[in-house]
Amino acid sequence: MSVCPGDNIIQLYLQKQKVANLFELLKNLKRLETLVLRNFVDLPEHSFLSLRKLVTLHIDNTPLPILDVTDCIPSLHNLILSGTSTEEIQGISNLRKLQRITLLFLPLRHIPSGLNQMKELREITFVNLNLENLPQNWTSCKFLAKFYVEPVFFDGNEKLYFSDTLTDIDISNDIVYEFCSYQEFCIRMIEREKVTLPFHLKCIICYSLFRHPCTNSVGHTYCRECISRWMKLRLTDPQTNVVLRTKSIHPNNLIEILLQEFLEKHQNLYDPVSKILSNPKENLATNSSDPSYFPLP
Ligand SMILES: [Zn+2]
Repeated sequence: MSVCPGDNIIQLYLQKQKVANLFELLKNLKRLETLVLRNFVDLPEHSFLSLRKLVTLHIDNTPLPILDVTDCIPSLHNLILSGTSTEEIQGISNLRKLQRITLLFLPLRHIPSGLNQMKELREITFVNLNLENLPQNWTSCKFLAKFYVEPVFFDGNEKLYFSDTLTDIDISNDIVYEFCSYQEFCIRMIEREKVTLPFHLKCIICYSLFRHPCTNSVGHTYCRECISRWMKLRLTDPQTNVVLRTKSIHPNNLIEILLQEFLEKHQNLYDPVSKILSNPKENLATNSSDPSYFPLP
């Protein structure tokens, strides 16, 4: 990597860097709006202090037990942590311009303190955290439009309060505290976006993309769960009603590969890095008090 003081870099995507003075170098950039740090061995404490103009920060798959953003990155609009070891986020209310927060696959147990008071917040996406509870009152987030949290221990009798800008809410309140796999997460994100699903990748029992596609003795493929549940009730083929001679099913590796290819093709719908890199305009700094910056439906 070669970064020179005074350089004008808008997006920087770094993997496994071991540059001792990385953040010293970044500090000297004239302009740096998006920073993606993936697969780092460690990040020095307070390393983000110097990044005064950053708009989007994504840290992926990197040890980072505590993220302390007190006194740093006042310009940040988008914060994304995925697969980091973060148990605690401190000082979030200092990110006064924060509009989107995405936390995926972290051992985080509590919502960052003060998050539900943040005036500019538009989007919350929390998946597979260790959350024990949720603050009830979100009405201070006047522009909040999307609230996607799963899973969480959530007592159905407790109410959550939002401002009326909220159009998209999804909270998994299953009693069973079930973590989804990364593939399951990708599939759910794609299905939320109402992408047309190819016929050959759809299960005709659940009408969704295949989960663990398995083929029965007459050569038809269904989700493993779907066909197992079906055969507990009747020993027929769901597609043709033919009576089956055996309950045996086997994983369909070809369909699994095609499914993977389909997921990769739509990576920008679930992978925050692809999302950022495929749509740089969305991450440019604008006047954050202007609600049109994030198009409200
Ligand atoms: Zn199914």
